[in-house]
Amino acid sequence: MGSIASNLQEVKQRIVAACAGTGRDAHGVTLVAVSKTFGADAVRAANAAGQCHFGENYVQEALVKIAALADLRAQLQWHLIGPLQSNKTRAVAEAFDWVHTVDRLKIAERLSAQRPATLPPLQVCLQVNIGGEASKSGLAPAEVPAVAQAVAALPRLVLRGLMSIPAPAADAAALRSPHRALRELLEQLNRQGLGLDTLSMGMSADLEAAVAEGATLVRVGSAIFGGRG
Ligand SMILES: *Cc1c(COP(=O)(O)O)cnc(C)c1O
Repeated sequence: MGSIASNLQEVKQRIVAACAGTGRDAHGVTLVAVSKTFGADAVRAANAAGQCHFGENYVQEALVKIAALADLRAQLQWHLIGPLQSNKTRAVAEAFDWVHTVDRLKIAERLSAQRPATLPPLQVCLQVNIGGEASKSGLAPAEVPAVAQAVAALPRLVLRGLMSIPAPAADAAALRSPHRALRELLEQLNRQGLGLDTLSMGMSADLEAAVAEGATLVRVGSAIFGGRG
């Protein structure tokens, strides 16, 4: 592994190459650097190299980091990409810019009610269990249209789109199929008038497959910050 700055450059090159290969504009893909388990110093180094979007999985860990980086707050966008329990929604509504892992209406209602009036609306995605895996969290695809309509109507949230964490796949075709299914679900919602613009999909191992299927946010951790041990 190189430095955080050189790793970031490599990941951006991968995104540019994946976009070029499928005729997309690389400006349509936002890199979310997943800083879970890494300290505030790693985020600071990435920000010094131009990175503004950061993803965190664990609410408590993230709150400590966000506080330690308060001097940079105006430049940073914090994305919650890990599971969210209802007893943590207030802290998340107060501290984050995005939540990718809304998987039931009750969580969305709490986030909307608890989002401080002094902050802009919270950007949210619905997490979808696109492969129907028993062990995974997320809404079943069939549940998504009704929940999406209800979440889109909440006053202090902006429903931006869908997120998924597909199971690891053995070959390129198997890597792409869950990403394609998520894109098709987004298109279905947009035909129902929702106007969604975000597909949060793709990680270090599958960002090319995700970009090829229309990812607009890719969540990359280990390729930037190194292994998590
Ligand atoms: C950890 C994590 C990532 C980043 O994974 P890498 O393989 O380190 O790139 C992306 N999305 C979610 C939801 C994660 O939990």
